[in-house]
Amino acid sequence: MEIPAIIKRTGRDLLNFVYPPFCILCDQYLEEGDDLICFNCLSNLDWLPFAYCPDRNCNMIVPSDLEGCPVDGHKGIHLKFIRALGNFNQYAGDNIGEPYSMLIHELKYNHKHSVARILGSILGRIIDIEPHFKDYEAFIPTPLHSTRRRERGYNQSELIADVLSKSTGKPVLKGLVRRKRHTKSQTTLSRLERKKNISGAFEVTDKTKVQGRSLLLVDDVYTTGSTLNEIALVLNDAGASKIAGVTLAIAMNLSIIPEDKV
Ligand SMILES: [Zn+2]
Ligand SMILES: [Zn+2]
Repeated sequence: MEIPAIIKRTGRDLLNFVYPPFCILCDQYLEEGDDLICFNCLSNLDWLPFAYCPDRNCNMIVPSDLEGCPVDGHKGIHLKFIRALGNFNQYAGDNIGEPYSMLIHELKYNHKHSVARILGSILGRIIDIEPHFKDYEAFIPTPLHSTRRRERGYNQSELIADVLSKSTGKPVLKGLVRRKRHTKSQTTLSRLERKKNISGAFEVTDKTKVQGRSLLLVDDVYTTGSTLNEIALVLNDAGASKIAGVTLAIAMNLSIIPEDKV
């Protein structure tokens, strides 16, 4: 039976009264049809136009007709390129501050799954259009250790990968990479110590599903790159053809490293 419009409307108004729909970035009241972020804040987000070399000491742009960085021989780099939607450190004025940093925080710690849907669907369109993604067959979300997953209740990288899969038609391979041990917090560690801390933390659970394949690793933010390059290393060792990374944001200013990230 159809629910009469008046009841629907009253229900929605009541819900809006209890949970007023404010923009999570600027606190303004959301217009009808806006989801989580107001139109003004959404249009203030900068989109990065390029993929980058995954080596943070190089950071060269990787043009879409190249497979990877034009400079050869980066040590410890196992990704072909990293493609992020925006700059984690983008400053969008006093009102909003750093929108990517705020949005990713909401996604990870405040159960705001819509962030994955809003930003992921834009990233998905990029993956659909840009030529260097043509050979890549599937997404692999960065695994969380089971303890952390239990605490949080979800893995934000899986949420992003699901949205990317929906917009591109490429499948998500869940559970193919496992985090063997809980790595300690990286915040007080130097870049070299971070690398050591993460070394040997991952394993491939089924090598037959990796062999000869080109795969995209998914994470919320790319900072020093130690985590994604470590996962790319185990996938390459298991026989993958090539690995690249896709993230919602990349930290362009490496002096600000988000908590619990490498
Ligand atoms: Zn806003
Ligand atoms: Zn490079």
